[in-house]
Amino acid sequence: MKLPAISFEFFPPKTPEGRSKLQATRQTLGAYGPEYFSVTFGAGGSTREGTLQTVQDILAAGQMGVPHLSCVGAERASLKALLQEYQALGVRKIVALRGDLPSGYGMGGEFRYARDLVEFIRTEFGKAFEIWVAAYPEYHPQSRSPADDIARFADKIKAGASGAITQYFYNTDAYFHFLEQISAQGVDVERTPIVPGVMPIASFTQLARFSDACGAELPRWMRAKLASYGDDVESIRAFGTQVVADLVDQLAAVEAPALHFYTLNQPGPTAAVLDAVGYSRRS
Ligand code: FAD
Repeated sequence: MKLPAISFEFFPPKTPEGRSKLQATRQTLGAYGPEYFSVTFGAGGSTREGTLQTVQDILAAGQMGVPHLSCVGAERASLKALLQEYQALGVRKIVALRGDLPSGYGMGGEFRYARDLVEFIRTEFGKAFEIWVAAYPEYHPQSRSPADDIARFADKIKAGASGAITQYFYNTDAYFHFLEQISAQGVDVERTPIVPGVMPIASFTQLARFSDACGAELPRWMRAKLASYGDDVESIRAFGTQVVADLVDQLAAVEAPALHFYTLNQPGPTAAVLDAVGYSRRS
């Protein structure tokens, strides 16, 4: 079976120790030959410098760095300046998002939705960047309705997105159903790849917290089993590796266009899944 191409997501580290740890993580995961490393962006610009610095570190190591950019609370001039900086660095691919401001910030800024950012980048930069956007097979928690979420997603693609990376899921039916629904809205999934986002499992409490916050379902049977291990981290990781490796197998079997791993800057859980599935590692 041909294994899908892979990419890895990091968040920008806040300290020099975090930066050198991430360099080691990049080395470990770089051995699996990823297409690129992406770097998240704190909504409202809180990690503007950190994201830029991390992307520069990746590029300096001769790897492909892909910055995320979120538009909520942002001004056009400031995003344009940042995009010009990325363009000058040789960045060719961006993940364009709305983002979530912390509660109490309101919305503000000159953009409302990710679609506005996609349109802005296409207007200002033409085809200089591939623009990737977020997709939600289990629907975005703030959507008006499932049908509206699908229609708004299709708008985002029609505004000029090159492809999408999904929120993580553990139930492939949601992903397949999503593909059917967006195809019915005129999205050509052969030309506009919808890349599954994969969340390896390192900690039950952290995963449960994320899932509750972002609206990704942690299936009941997985929640019960993970909870039953208590503080036994080894068993949590072994079970997590097996479940996520099965998920990757299922996605590889249907020739998913690629896979994007949410690494949380930790090499271990992602590497364990890749090893279990049979991805080879350059020494
Ligand atoms: P949008 O596509 O704008 O959608 C947001 C909501 O608005 C949806 O409910 C949609 O249905 C609705 N909507 C869209 N258009 C309209 C309209 N015209 N009228 C009414 N409703 C509408 N967050 C960060 O802050 N930084 C990151 O780096 C980051 N990286 C991410 C990477 C991936 C792969 C994913 C899946 C998510 C990431 N996020 C990140 C989280 C993301 O910012 C949040 O999920 C956010 O709530 C939505 O962003 P979006 O780009 O999907 O928004």
